[in-house]
Amino acid sequence: MKARYDCSKCPGYCCSYDRIEVSDFDIARLAKHFGLSADAAREKFTFHHKTKDADEWVLRHRKDTVYKSICRFFDQDERRCTIYAARPNVCRRYPSGTTCGYYDFLLFEREQQGDDDFIPSA
Ligand code: SF4
Ligand code: SF4
Repeated sequence: MKARYDCSKCPGYCCSYDRIEVSDFDIARLAKHFGLSADAAREKFTFHHKTKDADEWVLRHRKDTVYKSICRFFDQDERRCTIYAARPNVCRRYPSGTTCGYYDFLLFEREQQGDDDFIPSA
């Protein structure tokens, strides 16, 4: 079915989520993409998020011009992923259906504001 969202009209809200979890397989794919060892890729691109409720490796972030922070692999000028072919599985799966909740919210707010460039914080 055809997607009812257009990432090219969105500033990349999903990539601003601060817990993009990566598996060992994702790390191996990133390592291959960058010609690094898995250990080097894990060290360079991720950090260990460990709390009483979580024990996971997540992609590092950096300060963003639109959201508070965004994935380190996000191009902040083009507003797109720079490692599309090597992106983690969680990024491949999102959004899981034909709609994106944030995109619907974005369109609604832009229409309300009468401003096609308006960017609401979620
Ligand atoms: S939040 Fe939705 S519309 Fe925006 S980039 Fe992500 S998937 Fe695309
Ligand atoms: S790897 Fe790419 S798609 Fe996934 S969060 Fe980072 S910039 Fe977004």
